[in-house]
Amino acid sequence: MVKRLEPILPGSYLGILGGGQLGRMFTQAAQAMGYKVCVLDPSADSPAGSIAEQFIQADYIDSAALKKMANLCKSVSTEFENVPAQALDELEALGVFVAPRSNGVSIAQDRVAEKKFLATWKEETNIGPAPYCVIEHDADIALIAADLFPGILKTARMGYDGKGQITVHESSALVAAWAELGKVPCVLEKRMELDFEVSVLVVRGYDDEVVAYPVSQNIHRDGILFTSTVPAPSLKSGQEKKMIEAAKALIRKIDYVGVLCVEFFVLKNGDVVVNEIAPRPHNSGHYTMNACVTSQFEQQVRSMARLPLGDTRLLAPVSMLNLLGDLWFDGAIDKVIEPAWNKVLAHPDTKLHLYGKSDPRMGRKMGHINCLGESLNQARQNCAAVAAELG
Ligand code: ADP
Ligand code: MG
Repeated sequence: MVKRLEPILPGSYLGILGGGQLGRMFTQAAQAMGYKVCVLDPSADSPAGSIAEQFIQADYIDSAALKKMANLCKSVSTEFENVPAQALDELEALGVFVAPRSNGVSIAQDRVAEKKFLATWKEETNIGPAPYCVIEHDADIALIAADLFPGILKTARMGYDGKGQITVHESSALVAAWAELGKVPCVLEKRMELDFEVSVLVVRGYDDEVVAYPVSQNIHRDGILFTSTVPAPSLKSGQEKKMIEAAKALIRKIDYVGVLCVEFFVLKNGDVVVNEIAPRPHNSGHYTMNACVTSQFEQQVRSMARLPLGDTRLLAPVSMLNLLGDLWFDGAIDKVIEPAWNKVLAHPDTKLHLYGKSDPRMGRKMGHINCLGESLNQARQNCAAVAAELG
């Protein structure tokens, strides 16, 4: 039996480690519900720091800063998987309710630990990771089986949006690829024949209540998410249930409280492979902000405030379009333009979200648009039209 703990009610401070766009959307959701928010981020100017009631500019392992946060906040969560486990442990030791705790975040922030964990999980769910091996020493390279090629070499830590990854076609190219990544610990993963990619958001409360959102189908461009569409157009019957059950089993297995995203690959032969997990709300879950009863950010608030979780029901088909900094450059890299928001806003069934970032850069996530429709086709057409208008 889980001991019932009092919920943390509106009016209280909630804390968030990291001040990026995920922290900003969390802050907006919390404030809409009447909470106050304290953001901790190392940089002076951050999307969440600029709108929170309290902003602490400090390193994540600055003990004085963590103490200040603990004095203010009854509960703290993270928007950033690379926040040191030590920071979460320190906050917990100061009596703060930390959700998720450091164990779940540690698994997700290290691909070696993550793959190992996902591989053991396969026995229960029948969904495992792609074949892989770990490279930590020069000697590891000689031992690699030929059938892992072509493969993708990924740094164990700090990779995101396809960064820190090199495709390696044969074993002879591996030495140079590993040197290019700085000989840091890596995993080499077999490159799979993907049919399509999907993700599942699951949320768990402190009392073991678990809810899942409908599966989202994701298209990436240059390793960065481009669109997410729900309901997932290519899913075959039975696949959605299997993935949701697997994601629910996984969140319980980690004993994780909060919002967790599980990315899957569906292969050309119909097999399902688990790619990675993210210990926070996820870009592929931004559709929930306008298309579901409860957004993923409200769920983050609910889980950390020990409230009952919200309804995950999809209210309308949706296609989310990511807005990258590239849109601000019309061909010439030295000339910044403002995208044609008037055209986007002329669509009555699109929802524009901009993250308040002042300097657009190529590949930088600046915002997203949720394109709704009465039917899946309408949502997708709406999204294609908006994408074409933005150029
Ligand atoms: P990131 O942390 O950057 O999101 P991922 O491991 O999810 O890293 O890889 C980014 C993208 O690269 C995936 O969404 C997928 O499109 C492609 N990819 C990654 N691993 C594989 C693989 N083993 N086989 C085929 N494609 C892959
Ligand atoms: Mg990924």
